[in-house]
Amino acid sequence: MKLKYFGTAAAEGIPGLFCNCRICKNALEKRGKEIKTRSQALLDGKILIDFPPDTYMHVLNYGLDLRQIRHCIITHSHFDHLFERDFWCRLPSIANEIEEKALHVYLTSAGYRRAKEFFGADVDCARLKFHEIKEFEPFWIEDYRIIPLRANHDPAANPVIYAIEHNGKSILYANDTGFLFDETLDYIKSLGIRFDYISLDCTSMLIKGTRDHHMSLDVDVELFERLIEIGACDKDTAVYVNHFSHNGLATHEEFVKIAARHGFGVTYDGLEVEI
Ligand SMILES: [Zn+2]
Ligand SMILES: [Zn+2]
Ligand SMILES: [Zn+2]
Repeated sequence: MKLKYFGTAAAEGIPGLFCNCRICKNALEKRGKEIKTRSQALLDGKILIDFPPDTYMHVLNYGLDLRQIRHCIITHSHFDHLFERDFWCRLPSIANEIEEKALHVYLTSAGYRRAKEFFGADVDCARLKFHEIKEFEPFWIEDYRIIPLRANHDPAANPVIYAIEHNGKSILYANDTGFLFDETLDYIKSLGIRFDYISLDCTSMLIKGTRDHHMSLDVDVELFERLIEIGACDKDTAVYVNHFSHNGLATHEEFVKIAARHGFGVTYDGLEVEI
């Protein structure tokens, strides 16, 4: 599998729109990997993960071709992961001369309700089909098994993280979440899954002990150890940390060195990982 990250920041992005802190000033000055937009990734050029307001920018500057995408899985209804009104651009007379196939969007109840409110009858039309999914109820997209798992995040946003299996490989895409609940860990254990790759929330970066709603690097280390303990990871599992805040006390360049001490990679916009 090939996972390409288009956006790797928390809700306010790096630099934050109005922020003048050391990290944001550094990002504006150095640009490159220090600039991080709102979360989005693409698996094998087929399955888009999340639909933030920065999707348009990812099309303009990062080579995301939405005309090719048929499936989008959403983690939760926070605006930086679900900016549903931009799907409106796919409706007839707004998007012209496109292939008349539906874009399928999979989302939990809070997001589904909001999409229904916005789109009315168009929530299930020829060009757009929103599907309500439930945590711990796996479904298939072609030959990809998608397993939504309950995340430790704002319950009002019905958050899930995703385990995805394909062709004998499996990944865990895990933001926004704090340390995983026992029920989620037990469920992963019951699947007998061993991840080749995990992508962990690291919003708080160096602010130690962040374990609810989001995580910090030290808690990511703890979670990786726990996943090894239950047999879901081993020393061959590649670990990347993802979803960063400018309040996390480190620039990208600084954080790459610190994360490397634990053998972890640090995501950045444009990173492509082969699994
Ligand atoms: Zn987020
Ligand atoms: Zn800042
Ligand atoms: Zn969130």
